[in-house]
Amino acid sequence: MSIALQALNCLRLTYRSAHRTCRRIFSTKQHIMMSRHTHAKRLEGLDKNVWVAFTSVAADPSIVNLGQGFPDIPPPSYVKEALAKAASVDLMNQYTRGFGHPSLVKALSQVYGKVCGHPIDPFKEILVTVGAYGSLFGTMQGLVEEGDEVIIIEPFFDCYVPMVRMAGGKPVMIPLRPKSGKKTITSADWYLDPEELSSKFNSKTKAIIINTPNNPIGKIFSRDELQMIADLCIKHDTLCFSDEVYEWLIYKGHQHVKIATLPGMWDRTITISSAGKTFSVTGWKLGWSIGPEHLIKHLQTVMQNTLYTCPTPLQEAVAQGLLLNYEMMGQPECYFSSLAEELEGKRDRLAAILQEAGMTPVIPEGGYFMLVDVTSLNQDLSHMADDEAYDYKFVKWMIKEKKLAAIPVTAFVGEESKKHFEKYIRLCFIKQDSTLEAAGSILKNWRKV
Ligand code: PMP
Ligand code: GLN
Repeated sequence: MSIALQALNCLRLTYRSAHRTCRRIFSTKQHIMMSRHTHAKRLEGLDKNVWVAFTSVAADPSIVNLGQGFPDIPPPSYVKEALAKAASVDLMNQYTRGFGHPSLVKALSQVYGKVCGHPIDPFKEILVTVGAYGSLFGTMQGLVEEGDEVIIIEPFFDCYVPMVRMAGGKPVMIPLRPKSGKKTITSADWYLDPEELSSKFNSKTKAIIINTPNNPIGKIFSRDELQMIADLCIKHDTLCFSDEVYEWLIYKGHQHVKIATLPGMWDRTITISSAGKTFSVTGWKLGWSIGPEHLIKHLQTVMQNTLYTCPTPLQEAVAQGLLLNYEMMGQPECYFSSLAEELEGKRDRLAAILQEAGMTPVIPEGGYFMLVDVTSLNQDLSHMADDEAYDYKFVKWMIKEKKLAAIPVTAFVGEESKKHFEKYIRLCFIKQDSTLEAAGSILKNWRKV
């Protein structure tokens, strides 16, 4: 071999090995970069979200949207006017007190003081946050410790599980069970088995989350059921996080009981509610947590180090709305009860439409959602990919083929319970009559192509 050829070979080998080394270095570096920038462990498995998945598809105006829970009826005009008025005052557009605008926490203490039958300190026992989501998040971050168990009743508002996990806790699920031997027709037909619930409590249990009226079923927990839960909380010295965002939406024959008002429960309960539901303004995203000072102070610590404060004009407008209705509590014109009355008519209308279409609705006692059993439709979805529960496929199919949006109910249960709920979908009925009628005509024509 000539010297020139030898030199060329040598160069080629050097190039190849340099190239290999480079690739190795580059891919190792890339790997290091990727692993350095991967998600925090606490987010493991939390990347899917039913609202993200279903709200954008339902936004198409040709679709009748009974999916995500938001009113398409107007909010009371006085809250909108109060917001405009608040924004017209220069100082009202600046930061306000971090734990809640003074006029709002005072108005809340008046309303809830009346409901609870004892004074509530506006500055120490109430915290205003960004929606009930913010209240739930602050509660978990402030009170749930690494390794704590938190009992969650299925079906549950979907964010409870990720929030418990993000706080380092372990969700422990217990399903509501349909009463056997009875065709299930109302949300009261779902019950919590006392022995099964008792078996979930142990020395690691930090809290139980309850949601009454419940989203998605619409169940209102009776005083006896709440007493049974309270007895277990006291026996095992645990906390109770009570999500009561639909507290005013109670239909005839039913009563909303606050677990915090049962003997021995105030000191261990955080009660959560929301302006979005109270005044039909879900876009305002204001919520509150109410409880004893020794618990609220930890939620305040979370608040002061995360969001710090909430929008001032919105808080002022909600305060005005609360004060106005505080004066009218117990009278039919009070929005707290007049909205429920209006919604009861919509509930009955939707139930009738569904029954006429041969479906089985579960009549809710409260809230603004209705479950529907779609088994009788026998919709064959075997052509769709098999990596999802039946209800997910059904809703996707219904949006595409029938132009009607709903929410699949298995989004509200854990893995183990999916098989019991996958034939249900959730419909929202805080909608104008024209929206409900449009849904009705889709349902009536269901079997026609
Ligand atoms: N809890 C329940 C049961 C809900 O349905 C919702 C949705 N509105 C929330 C909490 C969150 O409420 P917000 O929009 O006030 O954050
Ligand atoms: N709470 C509402 C519902 O259940 C909306 C929740 C959301 O959009 N994240 O539909």
